[in-house]
Amino acid sequence: MRIGYGYDAHRLVEGRPLILGGVTIPHARGLLGHSDADVLLHAVIDALIGGAGLGDIGKHFPPADAAFKDISSLTLLAKTRELIEGSGYAVVNIDSTVVCEAPRLGPHIPAMAENIAKTLGCPPASVNVKAKTEEGLGFTGAGAGIAAHAVALIDVKK
Ligand code: MG
Repeated sequence: MRIGYGYDAHRLVEGRPLILGGVTIPHARGLLGHSDADVLLHAVIDALIGGAGLGDIGKHFPPADAAFKDISSLTLLAKTRELIEGSGYAVVNIDSTVVCEAPRLGPHIPAMAENIAKTLGCPPASVNVKAKTEEGLGFTGAGAGIAAHAVALIDVKK
């Protein structure tokens, strides 16, 4: 078995949709990035790639590549599954935390976890998503951005 860890952060700006875990969440601002800037999926992808010892998200999906402009990060997650399985591994479970002052993410968490599980071909119970605020501290507390952390356990495919 191998464990991987991922972290990501994106800036909140006007004029962009807010997409977290593949769910479009009603909010006045969204995350800025080359892709859809889905900070949760980027952390999950980095955890999976890290666990398999395959480098990082930027190595496999370079932001300079026009093919990834505004791409759904669920597509990147599906490609990550191919990378992991191609290396002989299967996902055991994922735990993750989105650090976000607003909006309230609780109502959207089941849909985020379901999107991740479905894309990775895991049972829903294998994917956990949590949301936290930092009680007004730091860049997430100021509403300047959203951060996400994830860990992934992978095992040799049976
Ligand atoms: Mg990112």
